[in-house]
Amino acid sequence: MSTTEDGPQTDPTVIVVGGGPAGLSAALFTAKNGLETTVFDTDATWMHKAHLFNYLGIGSVGGSEFMATARHQVDDFGVDRRQDEPVTAVEEADDGFAVETDDGTYEADYVILATGANRDLAAALDCAFTDEEVVDVGVDMETSVDGVYATGAMVRPEEWQAAIAVGDGAAAALNILSTVRGEYYHDFDVPDDATRVFGELIAE
Ligand SMILES: Cc1cc2nc3c(=O)[nH]c(=O)nc-3n(C[C@H](O)[C@H](O)[C@H](O)COP(=O)(O)OP(=O)(O)OC[C@H]3O[C@@H](n4cnc5c(N)ncnc54)[C@H](O)[C@@H]3O)c2cc1C
Repeated sequence: MSTTEDGPQTDPTVIVVGGGPAGLSAALFTAKNGLETTVFDTDATWMHKAHLFNYLGIGSVGGSEFMATARHQVDDFGVDRRQDEPVTAVEEADDGFAVETDDGTYEADYVILATGANRDLAAALDCAFTDEEVVDVGVDMETSVDGVYATGAMVRPEEWQAAIAVGDGAAAALNILSTVRGEYYHDFDVPDDATRVFGELIAE
């Protein structure tokens, strides 16, 4: 829970550190589903060096073009995207986490680390690492520290692909949403007339 000048704020808040494919994917899911979401990024994503031919459903796209679309998409869902504001520290606080930048301290109930292959913040938070010296997570991307998630390049020694990073971010966000709502959560868009159009394909 965070506090504002209006008093306690009960909606869970999410801070994502890193705005590459992993971080923006996480932010897309949390913001789209009603969680207040802030992303801090320094625009050093490897995507600026990439041209994707292996992202399913997209024939070919430049990495920077992909990022421009992704940024637009999360902005449309209300993500507070703080570009060029590096996070200098993340610490456990009384009720959640304190995220530090040169501009101030921000409170969050959940933190999603998505800083590429840089694992410094995870190490400072005392997250467990594997024998291969990557952040230790399961399929829900939660670290050994409750409420802290690690996604993308930092959780794998070398298997670095944009599609995998995007999946990691989505998995972290869905786990947070399931925790917040107290039951497994699916982000399935079902338009009002879906049953008429798709019939039993979407029937419960
Ligand atoms: C030359 C090259 C070509 C590639 N080609 C392909 C390809 O063809 N297909 C493919 O699938 N993948 C490709 N990749 C891999 C792909 O780019 C990565 O898998 C992907 O970018 C990883 O995403 P990520 O979100 O984990 O990390 P990143 O994309 O690295 O994003 C991390 C972000 O975190 C930010 N950040 C770091 N520390 C902080 C901090 N303290 N505070 C705030 N922000 C911070 C960085 O500025 C960066 O924007 C390529 C990579 C390279 C280097």
